[in-house]
Amino acid sequence: MVDNHNRTINYLRLSVTDRCNLRCIYCMPDEGIVFTPHSEILTYEEMIHIVKLSVSNGIRKIRLTGGEPLVRRDILGFIQKLQQIDEIEEITLTTNGVLLKDFARGLRECGMRRINISMDTLRRDRFYQITRRDFFDRVWEGIDEAESLGFDPIKINVVAMRGVNDDEIVDFAKLTFNKPYHVRFIEIMPFGKDNGNGWARDRFISVGEILDRIRSLGEVNPVGYSLLGGPAQRYRLEGAAGEVGFIGALSNHFCATCNRLRLTSCGQLRGCLFSDEETDLKTPLRTGGDDDSLLRLIETTIRNKPKEHGMGLWEPRKCVRPMNRIGG
Ligand code: SAM
Ligand code: SF4
Repeated sequence: MVDNHNRTINYLRLSVTDRCNLRCIYCMPDEGIVFTPHSEILTYEEMIHIVKLSVSNGIRKIRLTGGEPLVRRDILGFIQKLQQIDEIEEITLTTNGVLLKDFARGLRECGMRRINISMDTLRRDRFYQITRRDFFDRVWEGIDEAESLGFDPIKINVVAMRGVNDDEIVDFAKLTFNKPYHVRFIEIMPFGKDNGNGWARDRFISVGEILDRIRSLGEVNPVGYSLLGGPAQRYRLEGAAGEVGFIGALSNHFCATCNRLRLTSCGQLRGCLFSDEETDLKTPLRTGGDDDSLLRLIETTIRNKPKEHGMGLWEPRKCVRPMNRIGG
C-alpha cells in the first residue's frame, strides 16, 4: 500500500518483547526498568492476526526485534506460524546474539536466510561496559555458528559512540577484509528517559566522519543499491570479503524511501520510529473489534505515516517511548 507521500509500505518490524538479557547503555538503564506485564504484551496469536491483516495492506517482509526477540518463549514456533502466511516473502531477525548459538540452527530450519546481530565492540572488557553483562564470548560463538550455518549476509550492527568505541571503527572495518560480514555503523539516536539528548549528543559521530576514518584503510567503493541493503549506504573496501554500511538516521535520514511500519510488543502500530504517534490495535483486538475496523486502522496508520522524522541533529527529543519497547 502507498502512503500519502507516495512511499510503498511493505515492511513490518515486529517487537515481540520489551525484555532483554543485556542492558546496553544507549538503550536501557541498568536497574529500575519496569517491563510490560505479560498480560499487556500481545500473544503470538494476536500478532499473527495483525500480520495477516497487514498482509492484505501490502506487508511482505517482517523483521522480528525487541527487546531481545530470542528471549521470548517459543519464538521458533511463532516464526514457523509466520512462515505459513503465503504472502510473506521474508522473515528476518535482529538479535544481540547472546542466545544465537542455541537458536541459529532452528532459525535456519525455519527458513531464515539473513540475520542482523548487534555487536558494538571487539573487546571483552568493553563489551561489559557497553552491555553491562558478560556475554562477549557467547555472542561471538553465535556469530560463528550463524556463519557456519550459511546465514548470508550476516549483518553486524555497530552503534558508534565517541569516547566509547570509536577507536574500534577501523578495526571493525578491517574485519570485512577476511569475513563476509556486512558491518553497519549506526549513528547513536536519542531515546528513552535516561539516555536523553545530552548523553547521546556527546557521543554522536556522524556516518560521514566514520567513513572518513575508514578511508585510511584504502579505497572504499560504493556498492549499488539493493533491497538487501535497506536504508544503509553500502561500501566495500578494495579486496574485502564483506562490506561496510552506514545508517545515518540523524545526519542523513532516509525518510523519503522509508517503507516501514512498526508494531510494539503491546500492540501499538507506529509509522515512524521517532514519532510517538501510535495506533492502538490491541484494544479493538481484545474487545471484539471486527477485522474491517482493524484493517481501516492499519490503513489509516499507513496513509498517515509521517513524511519525515523532522528531528534536527540535537533538538529536544521527540520520542518518549524507549527503544526496547518500540523495537529498533
Ligand atoms: N536486542 C536486539 C539487538 O540489540 O539487536 C534487537 C532490539 S535493538 C533495540 C535493535 C537495534 O537498535 C540494535 O542494533 C541496537 O544497537 C539499536 N539501538 C538501540 N538503541 C539505540 C540508540 N539509542 N541509537 C542507535 N541504535 C540503537
Ligand atoms: Fe537489549 Fe538490544 Fe536494547 Fe541492547 S539494544 S539493551 S540488546 S534491546
